[in-house]
Amino acid sequence: MPQTSGKGEVLNVGRIDKGAKCSVSGCGLEAVRSLSGEKVRTAGLKVGNEKRAYLCKGHYKEYKKKTKKDKQFEKWRYSA
Ligand SMILES: [Zn+2]
Repeated sequence: MPQTSGKGEVLNVGRIDKGAKCSVSGCGLEAVRSLSGEKVRTAGLKVGNEKRAYLCKGHYKEYKKKTKKDKQFEKWRYSA
């Protein structure tokens, strides 16, 4: 189920090329999400210097876990 949020960035999520691979170094699984590379790097995942980072299911989960503590802070934006 897609998460509804007022964040434009999240709205772009999911528009990924078919067959895109996870950008995390050493992974290479099929990507399910594309996110800002900067955000993914900030979360501590090892992706290259691209603007967009593609994440597989597992790494997207990991990304969400790592950004969990920011969620509360961002919650107010979600209610828009
Ligand atoms: Zn991955």
